[in-house]
Amino acid sequence: MTAELMIGTDLAAEMVAKAAERAAALQEKYGVQPCLATVLVGDDPASATYVRMKQNRSKKAGIGSRSVVLPAETTTDELVAEIRKLSEDPEVHGILLQHPVPAQIDERAAFEAIDPGKDVDGVTMLSFAAMALNDASDPGFRSATPGGIMRLLAAYDVPLEGAHAVVIGRSPILGKPAGMLLLASNATVTYAHSRTRDLPELVRTADVVIAAVGKANFVRGDWLKPGAVVVDAGYNEGNVGDVHFEEASEVARLITPVPGGVGPMTIALLLEQTVDAAEAQLGQCPGS
Ligand code: NAP
Repeated sequence: MTAELMIGTDLAAEMVAKAAERAAALQEKYGVQPCLATVLVGDDPASATYVRMKQNRSKKAGIGSRSVVLPAETTTDELVAEIRKLSEDPEVHGILLQHPVPAQIDERAAFEAIDPGKDVDGVTMLSFAAMALNDASDPGFRSATPGGIMRLLAAYDVPLEGAHAVVIGRSPILGKPAGMLLLASNATVTYAHSRTRDLPELVRTADVVIAAVGKANFVRGDWLKPGAVVVDAGYNEGNVGDVHFEEASEVARLITPVPGGVGPMTIALLLEQTVDAAEAQLGQCPGS
């Protein structure tokens, strides 16, 4: 079997084009340009690249960007103070704190300094609870990568109801919320992590596999059930995913490429949610 590719690039471009139209409408109606603030702590080159990509895409979508770059030795209090300033700034509609932050920082405290109404990357406890409770009430933003994955699965008509989904990884920004969103779509969800026993055996029972580990080529082709749907959220040095692509595409029915699969969907959802946030802050029902 040679798997069909689940390509995020075109779908993401459509999402960004729609977000751009809505951003232009806000500019025309209220004279306000939606603005995404990015916060980067330290000088990790990969993080700096991700932030730059998000700013470039924002610009293309007519979304303004504000960039805050802080030194690696920043303390939790200093970071929290910077984020609070953005939370209180009426010209900023969405806030993204680039993950991971240096080890001395309490990342949770920093995330919680984001006004939930501006949490367009879906990292606050409120957004997390909204995903866990499957509650669509405001603000309740989706974590950008899991939300992007769900949009990709929907676009390729992947049946989730009753399907067994194995999520490998349980980070609060990716694995955990991905599992919660799959559960909300009536999948039967198993989380795997670094202490899981017999991982290949477990993965062989999955109709849908979400790989969110951060280890290059970790999931092998002979771990997969023939016909499985494989979503590779990993992004490792040299543009390599967490799934051994060549092996997996011989067994899977559908598979995301790296790059061009989950990555563009993450940015598209972030921009879409920035426009949602701006609309809500201007008193307009998001998407109306
Ligand atoms: P993370 O915080 O390091 O979490 C990794 C998870 O993998 C943890 O839950 C860990 O388990 C689990 N794990 C580690 N070794 C394992 C093993 N041998 N067997 C099973 N599970 C294992 O990473 P993350 O932030 O979630 O990111 C994961 C990957 O996604 C990275 O490659 C990252 O670059 C990528 N990513 C991509 C996007 C995108 O837009 N495409 C966005 C975010 C992240 P424990 O909990 O037990 O430690």
